[in-house]
Order: sequence, then structure tokens, then C-alpha cells
Amino acid sequence: MEIRAVRGMHDLYGEELALWQWTENELRKVLSSFGFKEIRTPVLEQLSVFKETVGDETDIVEKQMYTIEKESETLVLRPEGTSGFIRAVLEHQLHRLPGTQRYYYYQPMFRHERPQKGRLRQFFQVGAEIINDSSPEADAELIALLDAIYKHFQITEYKVCINSVGCKDCRPQYKEKLKDYFRPHLASLCELCQKRFERSPLRILDCKRESCKALAEKAPVITNSLCSVCQGHHSKVRSRLKDAKVDFIDDPSIVRGLDYYSRTAFEFTSVLLGAQSALGGGGRYDELSTRFGAEPLPAVGFGLGMERLVMVLQEMKKHTPPKETPFVFLAPLGVEAFNHLFSIGIELKRVGISNEMVYDAEKGLKALLKAANRVEAAYAIVLGDDELKSGQFLLKDMKAGTQESLKLSHIKEELLGRRQRAS
Ligand SMILES: [Zn+2]
Ligand SMILES: [Zn+2]
Repeated sequence: MEIRAVRGMHDLYGEELALWQWTENELRKVLSSFGFKEIRTPVLEQLSVFKETVGDETDIVEKQMYTIEKESETLVLRPEGTSGFIRAVLEHQLHRLPGTQRYYYYQPMFRHERPQKGRLRQFFQVGAEIINDSSPEADAELIALLDAIYKHFQITEYKVCINSVGCKDCRPQYKEKLKDYFRPHLASLCELCQKRFERSPLRILDCKRESCKALAEKAPVITNSLCSVCQGHHSKVRSRLKDAKVDFIDDPSIVRGLDYYSRTAFEFTSVLLGAQSALGGGGRYDELSTRFGAEPLPAVGFGLGMERLVMVLQEMKKHTPPKETPFVFLAPLGVEAFNHLFSIGIELKRVGISNEMVYDAEKGLKALLKAANRVEAAYAIVLGDDELKSGQFLLKDMKAGTQESLKLSHIKEELLGRRQRAS
């Protein structure tokens, strides 16, 4: 058997995991100061949660979903977070609770695509969603939150690109305008865009192929085709972003990959990862709930790629999470001292004093102190036959190199006191 993780899926451990954990904690701090509460949904959902919501024509459903057939059900490893979130909201009637509600999730997602830098088959996403609020202020707040997250990590090299994708009243006319524009050039579009032409011509605008990009640059922009309601919404979002002191640029190519967006769409891009690439993005999706057969539900959200955020932090080398080292190293000399320190060690762990001990009573003092240094313990406790007889132990300060003789019966209090002074 070959010992290897599934392609495009990574194990996390050691220093890299420490950075992830630190990043996660910092993220939770920002999210909670913006009033967002966590929600957790299962990794597996019914295929219908994504099929009916995302629309058959999208790449995700076409070839990227991991599916499991079990007892005549087709289950899917979630490829994105929003559909499962809305499924949970509708199932538990969270939208019936009064007032604006803010949720976030931090979960792994799964897509069977070609693995590359910053794009894995199992990837972690932080999503934030505001429901029950159709105001442009909600959109602006959410963009300001994503902006605050990158600022919190002192990331400065990114752009906030915003756009409006219209609504079901004004988008169809714009789609027709776009098709009229692209029709004479159909042959110069890439194969995928030719497929998109009939049903999702907007998606041609965010194609990364040079030939498509060149054509898209001269295409009519949607912001000139918005209905008056969408226009009012969009200009309010823009002015609220200015009020919130969020720098942004208007980018008509932001259409988002998924079809359920309406009005506000946005993307945060950065050159920090080499080519211009997305750090995160989102938009308004009031119509998503209707595809579950429910009433329209005002909702706006974003997704942030954790792998990319952590990669940026690694490049910056600014954030070094504190190393976890034991407070005390236990160094028994002889079997009797070993027996004593074993039970003391467990007792100290119970009261929250981290400690380590080599489970080998034969080791000599020199080897033990070497081990204490290797694990970077702050203190070492040395206990031998002489100390045992006099009811004392030696406490060695590993950094200062000093040591003192203390009462064995007070060992817990001594260490608790020292740890308190150290923190
Ligand atoms: Zn509209
Ligand atoms: Zn294309």
C-alpha cells in the first residue's frame, strides 16, 4: 500500500498548523466584533441542495463535485458554503427570527479540480452571511468586514473590486445586449465561453483567456443597464463604502462564478500570490432561497479562502505564532524519584501546568538536562535520593541557569506562582 494522502488534500501539523490556528483565532475575533455568530453545517448534503441552486450549467455541477451514492440517495461533499447555509436557515426557520442576522462558518469544501498553488481539492473557507436585510448598508458592512479582516492581518496589497449584476428585472435585457455584442465574435471565444454564450453570457466577462478578455474589455457594462432600483442600491453601496472609508474600484468584470447572485458582487484581489488572484469575494443572493421553493430571502455574503490567506501570511513572515513549550521538565534520578515525579507530573497537568518527562528511570542528569533544553522548558525539576530524604527538590531556571532548593510538599504552589509571574 502506498502511504499517501488523497491528491489535492493536505495534512496540517507542526509550525504550519500553529499558523493556521493562530489565523483562525484572529479571524474569529474580527468576526465576533462585527457581531457574527458561528453556524456549522454537515459536510454532506443532498445533491439537490446544489443542483437546483447552482444551476446545471456551472462548472461545479458539471464536473467538480464529489458524490456518494448510498441507499438510493445521492450525497455530495459540499463544493461551497452558501447553499448548505441557506438550506439550514430554511430548515430551522432562522429567517423567522426578528431583525438582521449575521452568521459565519469555517469549514472544509471539496472540489475535484486540477490542484495548483492555493487551490486544493479539500480547501477551507470562511464564509460570512447577513440575512433578513435587503439594505445597501448590509452589503457595505459585509465588504467592510472583509476589508477589516485583511487589515487586521496588516495585509495592504489588495484591491476591493465591486460591481452590480442587476436583478431578474434588468439582467435579462443586459444579457441580450451582451449576446448582441458577442455574437459576431463567437468564433474567437474559447470553447467554454461558446458554451456559456446562450445561458450565462455574463460569465464570459470573467473568463481568464486572453482572447475572451480582450473582447470582454469593450463589452457594454451592466452598470449602464441597471433598473432604477438596482441603480439606487448600487450607488448607495458605493457611498456607504466611502462613509466606511473602504477604498474600492468599480470593476464591470466581477460577475461571480455562481448564478444566484443579484445586485452587489465583489471580489478582493491581490498580486501577493504571484498573478492577480482572488483572496475572497461574494455578493447579494436574495433569490437563492426561491430555488428551494421558499420566498425570496434577503441575503448577502462572502467567502474567504483560508489557504490563500495563510500563504500570504507565510510570505509576509510577520506573524509568528507563539511556540508551545512545556513549562516544566521533570528530571528524576533513580527509580524512587521517577515514581514520585510520575504522579506529580500528572497532578501538575491537572492544574494546568504543562510538563514533560522521559519515561526511562535509567537516564542520567546530563541527558535529562539536555532533553529539557531541547523541548525549551522554562524550568527543570531535579529530584534524587538526597532530595527525597530531606523532602526537597531542585528547581532549575533553564534560561538563567540558576537553581534553588524548595520544599517538595509545596511543589504545586511554587510552580503555580511562578507560572503566574511568567505570564
Ligand atoms: Zn434591477
Ligand atoms: Zn473564455
